[in-house]
Amino acid sequence: MTNRSVFYTIKPKLVIEGAGVLLRRSIAPLATNEYDPFLLFDHFAFNDPLEGPVRGFPMHPHRGIDTVTYMLEGSVNHRDSLGNEDRITPGDVQWMTSGRGILHEAMPRRSETSGNIYGFQLWVNLPAAQKMGPPSYRSVKSSTIPVVEKDGASVRIVAGELDGIRGPVTEIAASPLYMDVKLAPGSKFVYPIPEGHTALAYVFEGEGSFAGEAVESVQMVFFNDDGDSIEVSTETGVQFMLIAGAPFKEPIVPYGPFVMNTVAEIKQTILEIQNGTFIK
Ligand code: FE
Repeated sequence: MTNRSVFYTIKPKLVIEGAGVLLRRSIAPLATNEYDPFLLFDHFAFNDPLEGPVRGFPMHPHRGIDTVTYMLEGSVNHRDSLGNEDRITPGDVQWMTSGRGILHEAMPRRSETSGNIYGFQLWVNLPAAQKMGPPSYRSVKSSTIPVVEKDGASVRIVAGELDGIRGPVTEIAASPLYMDVKLAPGSKFVYPIPEGHTALAYVFEGEGSFAGEAVESVQMVFFNDDGDSIEVSTETGVQFMLIAGAPFKEPIVPYGPFVMNTVAEIKQTILEIQNGTFIK
């Protein structure tokens, strides 16, 4: 195996979304589609008074993407136009396919024990042929997410496979890999990533060496496509979300919560929101 080198790392920027939620955003939808098939990665962490009162994300639409929420502390209450009502608790994942349209509300709550809220939201693109497909909702409970322990690595597999153990989220167009990887001090982790697939690692605890480059939390690592594996080692321990998937190589036009392929499709979406025909 040849290890991929690091192209560049990104320090998250603080942004405000929803009804005033302060987030750490490392990637955001770009017309250049730099991280194809991934569009956005937000990290919400209410552990600090700096972040003020906990506000949420009142009812809002999405079209053309999957939104993936992973909680580590606290919870999120969810409601949507498909009639789902759910509570995402620590270790759970919500994998929501907006397809042609969904309206949803996501209201974070502090952990009753730590008082914290800690989680991530990833947006995964849909190919043109599925953007106007039916919306769907997967509530993935913590107990259904396998954990593989190997050579000092503890890996929770949301999507993808490690040593023949498969994560519960399958049949997603981007063939995504989404894993929570925790490495003990003095350990090393090597994982195969198909050539041509985009690979990212969101380092949120500790520090490690990514392809020989020292990276401390909190940063997003964007790997070059110059090998078929990633290698991470650590002296003091590190935890990161490993994200990889197959690019669609289609043009995108992002507009707020919508990501389509053409300006005409975005205009059509806005028209449907205005005239009340967005939800079919
Ligand atoms: Fe949303």
